[in-house]
Formats: sequence, C-alpha cells, structure tokens
Amino acid sequence: MPNSNETINTVFAAQQKHALELRKSTYKQRLAVLKRFETVFNRSNNKLYAAAKADYGKTEAEVDLTEIFAVRTELAHIKSSLKRWMRPKKVMPSLTTFGTSSKIMYEPKGVCLVVSPWNYPYNLTFGPMLTAIAAGNTVMVKPSELTPNMSAVMREIIEEVFETHEVAVFEGDYKVSEHLTSLPLDHIFFTGSPAVGKIVMAAAAKHLTSVTLELGGKSPTIVDETADLKKAARNTMWGKFTNNGQTCIAPDYLFVHESVKDKFVALLKENIQSLYGDNEKIKANPDYCRIVNERHFERVNGLLNNAVEKGASLINGGLTDSDQNFISPTVLDNVASDSKILEEEIFGPLLPVMSYKNLDEVIAYINAKPKPLALYIYSKNNINIDKVLTETSSGDAVINHNMLQFLHPNLPFGGVNNSGIGKAHADYGFIAFSHERSVLRDKFSTTHMFYPPYTPKVKKMIKQTIKFLT
Ligand code: NAD
Repeated sequence: MPNSNETINTVFAAQQKHALELRKSTYKQRLAVLKRFETVFNRSNNKLYAAAKADYGKTEAEVDLTEIFAVRTELAHIKSSLKRWMRPKKVMPSLTTFGTSSKIMYEPKGVCLVVSPWNYPYNLTFGPMLTAIAAGNTVMVKPSELTPNMSAVMREIIEEVFETHEVAVFEGDYKVSEHLTSLPLDHIFFTGSPAVGKIVMAAAAKHLTSVTLELGGKSPTIVDETADLKKAARNTMWGKFTNNGQTCIAPDYLFVHESVKDKFVALLKENIQSLYGDNEKIKANPDYCRIVNERHFERVNGLLNNAVEKGASLINGGLTDSDQNFISPTVLDNVASDSKILEEEIFGPLLPVMSYKNLDEVIAYINAKPKPLALYIYSKNNINIDKVLTETSSGDAVINHNMLQFLHPNLPFGGVNNSGIGKAHADYGFIAFSHERSVLRDKFSTTHMFYPPYTPKVKKMIKQTIKFLT
C-alpha cells in the first residue's frame, strides 16, 4: 500500500470507525481473528527464514528460537487466557461505598499504533500486534526500514490476513512514523531507542495518547566471587553474541570480582570458541549473523576503535570486515572510564569487562547511570544477590542466567524510565492495550444522608462517619 499521508489518514479514519464496532466484539470473534493470523503465520516459515537471512544473515535456528518461538508462545498464551482477561473483574465494596456493587471492565483502547525496531522484527511487531488485537483494538503497524525483507514478509502476512480497517501496515522511514505518531491515536506501543522514544512520547503528548515505550540501555552483568563461573561464562557468551549482540536485553558490560577475573576471562574465550569456532573461521560460520547495516557497523566499529585508542586490550576478537558488516565476538579489558563504549548502549558484538573489589562500587556505578532494561547477577551468595536487587533498579533482573525473562509468559516485560515506560507480554500486554474502566452500580447506598442542607445533625453525622471510617 502506498504510504502517502493521505492514505494513512484514510485508513486511520476507517479504523476509528471499525474500532467502535470492535467494542462489542466477543471472545469468540477475537479468537477467530487470531486463528486467521495463526494459520497464515504457521505456513510462512520459509519466507520468514529467507528474509532474515537476506537482511543480516540471521540463521534459521535463531529465527526459530528468538522470533517464531516468541510469537507462537505469545499467541498460545493469549489464546488460553483471553476469556479470563476479557471477563469483567468484580471488586468488593468498601464501607464508604456500602450498598453498591462494582467491577472493572477491560475495554479496547481503540486505534493502536505499533512501531517496531529491526533487531527482532517478527517478534517485536507481531507480539504487540496480537496483544492489541486480543484486547479488541484496530492496529496500525510501522515496522523498521532497516530490515526491508523482513518488513515485506510481515506486510504480506498482514495483508493476507486482515482488512486494512482491522490491521494495516505502513512501511517506510521516520517520516512515515512521524506522521503516524502525529495522529490522535488511542495508544502507541513503541519499541526502539530511548532517543526516538522521547520523540514519540512528545508526539503522543499532543493528543494525550497513552504510550508503552519499550526502550534500551546499558544492561550490566555482575559475576561475584562465589559464582558458578563456567555457567556464567557460557550463558553470558550466548546472551551477548546471539543476534550479533543486537538485543535490547543483551549483557552490555561485565563487572567481575577481581579474585576470579583471570579465570573467568579464560572461560569467556573458551566459550566463544565452543559456540562459534576459531576466531579466524567465525566469518564463515553461518550461525554468526551480521551487524544490520553499514551505519551500525561504523558505529560499533567506532566504539571498538575508540576503546582501543584509549588503551583497552583485546581479550578476544577484534576482527572486522566492513564489506560484510562483520565484527568477530570481541571481549575487551582495561577499558578507560571515559571510553564511548562505557557511555552508549553498545548493541553489537563487543563486551567490555571490568573488575571490582567491593559490591558497593558496582552498585554506585550502576546507580550513576540511567536505569537499565535488564540486570544480571551470577552468584551463590544470597546476601550479595539481595543487596544488588535492593540497591539498584532495572526493568527486570535475572539471577544466574540472562535473556530468559523475555520468554516467561507470566512476567511483565519492560524497562523503567530511560529504558522504558509500561509493560508488555501476556496479562500485562492485554492491560496495556485496554482501558480499565471502573463501573459502580448503586443499589441501596446511604450517601444521601450527607447531602445539604448541612444541619447540625448532618454535620455531626459527617464528623462521626469520618471518625469511624478513618
Ligand atoms: P530506533 O529508535 O532507531 O527505531 C525504532 C523505530 O522507530 C523504527 O521503526 C523507526 O523507523 C522508528 N522511528 C525512527 N525515527 C522516528 C521518529 N522520529 N518518530 C517516530 N518513529 C521513528 O531503534 P532501532 O535502531 O530500530 O532499535 C534499536 C533500539 O531499540 C535499541 O536501543 C534497543 O535497545 C531498543 N530495543 C528495545 C527493545 C525492548 O523490548 N525494550 C527491544 C528491541 C530493541
């Protein structure tokens, strides 16, 4: 579909009209729509793999694990929970509202916009889109322009399953997104960088449109002196180099207790070798994908060069090939504190390692930065774990693993302040796309006894009531 502002406006108007109809939609009707999607999605695997390969060499196993599995998990959870989610929730009356009955109704917000990034396009576009549909909304979808093949497959799927007044997809760059976010939408679900998140929130403010912002940041990993080092090294190398480090919840930097640092660093190298083979051969390994484009290659390579210029040493990797947007899995030591790699979200296959003596230093370092999306701690010491959890803040936290939190269907997923606003997934996603409407019905309340005229008797009763109830 051509993405002129005029077309977008026409579709928006049609969705606004349809959204009013959808307010009346039943569980069965919504389920039928979701099943329509499921049928087409489940027979699109080959197209999904081919597009991911074409965009940045993403391998089939990673598309399966990090994209298709995530979409199917979300959909399965929605299907099994939707009836319960849609049911109005009864709430007990309080003494103040004695004589009334109340409930919370989950009404659809209306026309929702889903803006998604390039790093897990299927997962981060279809996931929120399905939740929005489950909550009874119409959806306008704007996938990333940086992964055009994957966006094209998503468009094909969406156009096969939906009428544009139900779900419409608009490809294109920030100009398309800017027009979409300028509309008086009922909700915007944005996944991307904190910088663009601020622009989206400012645009939403013009209409007081509610937002869910799934953003990024620098997620720390702490390895203390009691940690199972083998497990910590294996999990961290998987979490860091999956999708070439282009994961919002990838470990961004490491803090390792000085007493175990040398041993841990040796284990990191061993694990890179066992995951991807010899450094010199990694370029030919189809399991190791590429940085998404030249601009991001230059950005990540710039972080590497800046760190090395300031004295960082290479524990592993550092091989690059600009023709292929390739940087081998790179681990850096002795990184100067004013290096850019310690300031910006890395979002690529570089991992700076720092050592520490005392956990308080690490906590002070984390707290001096914007709140991260994720925090990981490897430890067997519950006192250390509790201290880190209590004295820091992050969107989510994982003990002795990483990245798994995203796949847990009963955990809210999202950041805090600079790493995000609002939560996604399962019940939390359904609520993000719903308005929780309070409904109170009067039966035999006695509030009229407190109405004017305020005679001495009424005044006394008001005072006594306050005394009794508070
Ligand atoms: P981005 O912010 O550059 O782009 C995201 C989307 O916003 C794209 O579709 C883009 O076209 C659109 N966009 C760009 N400029 C816009 C504007 N002015 N107005 C409205 N929309 C605009 O992010 P990216 O490079 O695609 O993704 C990487 C970032 O996303 C990282 O910071 C990463 O941590 C974050 N991320 C977060 C999550 C999460 O779930 N919290 C998941 C994946 C990625």
